[in-house]
Amino acid sequence: MSSGDTVEQLIIIGSGPAAWTAAVYAARANLAPFVYEGQPTSGSEMIPGGQLMFTTEVENYPGFPEGVDGQKLMAALRAQAARFDVRIAGANVTRVDFSKQPFTVWGDDDGMRRARAVIVATGASANWLGLESEQHFRKAGLGVTACATCDGAFPRYRNHPVAVIGGGDSAMEEATYMTKFSNPVYVIHRRDALRASRIMQQRVLNHPKIQVVWNSVVDEVLGDNTNGVTALRLRDVKTGQRRDLPVSGVFLAMGHTPNTKFLDGQLETDAKGYLALKDPGRTTSNVPGVFAAGDVADSTYRQAVTAAGMGCKAAIDAERWLAEHCEMASG
Ligand code: NAP
Repeated sequence: MSSGDTVEQLIIIGSGPAAWTAAVYAARANLAPFVYEGQPTSGSEMIPGGQLMFTTEVENYPGFPEGVDGQKLMAALRAQAARFDVRIAGANVTRVDFSKQPFTVWGDDDGMRRARAVIVATGASANWLGLESEQHFRKAGLGVTACATCDGAFPRYRNHPVAVIGGGDSAMEEATYMTKFSNPVYVIHRRDALRASRIMQQRVLNHPKIQVVWNSVVDEVLGDNTNGVTALRLRDVKTGQRRDLPVSGVFLAMGHTPNTKFLDGQLETDAKGYLALKDPGRTTSNVPGVFAAGDVADSTYRQAVTAAGMGCKAAIDAERWLAEHCEMASG
């Protein structure tokens, strides 16, 4: 739906912890935010609710002593925002024009909206191998995940062998973390040298429970719907030899990709492609009136609680910016 000549005060793009927290704060500041929450798209990593929608149990979000199901947590965050004066479109933003005021945002519902301020909170997607078997077990919650901190403590991994895929700092961190529960922990890396920092490498290479499998890639995730993942079919890239490695879980640690494609380069990014903040303590982008919050602008922490905190900051930054630069009357 096009909004015609109306100019919104604030559009929020995203529907993870950063976006819903920003919506609550903005609505309570009388900004009547309009939220593009996205919609499931085939072949896309992005779904409304973001990364937590792929997580079964969340044990590290404050306020839930018994833990909380990821989807339930996201439903609660959305419902909390919907209690206030927040309008929500189940559409993906396909393009934006941040070159002049008011800003324009286009959704794949064929709608176009204009706003004085925008908060981008579209998150980052974990990189996956793209194998059909990988996605099958991941979606079924049967042994494929991209977050050891989220899922590592589950019984299926305890005292069983698991594999971590990747050779960067995340892979070293995930592998070291998994030694609390699993034995052995294999690190499967496609080259003969790790990308990770020296200190993280040493921690892995010296750990008695971790074995690095060099020059190897995963051709297939093996298992069934009763037992979940049971093994990985590995291929040695040097010799071409294949073998099956028994594991009960696979942790993908091949980096993340911030969801910024729809911005078409209109906001500055850092060297890794994450939205660059003009002042790291705040949420200001290089375009006055456009703010960034959550994983799309944070390659360091990438936690639900830090995203929620950034969403709060973005709403307060937007409110102050609007008060300083714009008459509150729309139009
Ligand atoms: P990363 O540094 O980009 O490493 C990704 C790893 O995945 C690389 O080893 C890469 O192999 C491998 N990989 C990528 N695509 C693959 C594919 N299709 N098949 C097999 N392997 C593949 O990502 P990251 O480890 O998530 O780290 C991201 C940033 O966060 C880095 O700057 C890192 O230093 C930082 N970080 C820091 C800490 C810490 O200090 N505590 C913890 C985590 C992350 P190649 O090496 O062959 O390219």
